[in-house]
Amino acid sequence: MFAAGCHLSAAKGYAAMGREALKLGADTFQFFTRNPRGGRAKAVDEEDAAKLRDIMAENGFPVILAHAPYTMNLCSAKEDIRTFGRGMMEEDLQRMELFSGSMYNFHPGSHTGQGTEKGIEEIAEALNQVMNDDMTVTVLLETMAGKGSEIGGNFGELAEIRSRAVHREKLGVCLDTCHVHDAGYDIVHDLDGVLTEFDRIIGLEHLKAVHINDSKNPAGSHKDRHEKLGEGTIGTEALRRIVTHPVLRDLPFFLETPNDSEGYAREIATIRQWRGK
Ligand code: FE
Ligand code: FE
Ligand code: ZN
Repeated sequence: MFAAGCHLSAAKGYAAMGREALKLGADTFQFFTRNPRGGRAKAVDEEDAAKLRDIMAENGFPVILAHAPYTMNLCSAKEDIRTFGRGMMEEDLQRMELFSGSMYNFHPGSHTGQGTEKGIEEIAEALNQVMNDDMTVTVLLETMAGKGSEIGGNFGELAEIRSRAVHREKLGVCLDTCHVHDAGYDIVHDLDGVLTEFDRIIGLEHLKAVHINDSKNPAGSHKDRHEKLGEGTIGTEALRRIVTHPVLRDLPFFLETPNDSEGYAREIATIRQWRGK
């Protein structure tokens, strides 16, 4: 279902994010499950979670999206890092069941010299360990810019991870516009072509969310530096086409642009205006 929101700080808890989202004109939001650089999650405040559930129900938030910390690397060459990552994901997924039907996005990982094939194998193995039949949360693989040894810089790698996942019906994809652009997919001049390729390789039915960002760098740069909407190399027209495209327009859109609250409120309003709603 269509929704528009942005990344919010989780420092003041769940309900505070719900209230902040409302203030910004959002009906969804994204947040880090713990410090993005890793480390331990705060203890769960059940009452705070219940308050957010109320805010969501009363204001028609269809879904919220959690983002795993950047330090989580399920395919590091170092075993202790892989184990740490699995533990974090397992705990995060249990916790997100507080918000039934929510989504959990993660960066597939960096193989750090082990090779793509080995990396894909380890990511799928980790997912098979932490995902289960009873979960209501949908896990999302994020499309990546292909920086360094990052996995997920092309659709084929994401499809390969999905094909090896036992619970692949609960494993979708989040398309980050800055990342796919930086990875070399020409969403500026050939959005239809890129979506056709996504459909052929992954299947558009598995696309569950969009990170709507402009980029500071040229297509194919493999850089991953986000820019405000319309101020980067993707540009207003291409971003507007993405938000209004028939196969994308009913997805939730999340801004991860370099903005303060005011800037986010403006960009959320812009997305709604483009979409005519
Ligand atoms: Fe991300
Ligand atoms: Fe992203
Ligand atoms: Zn990024």
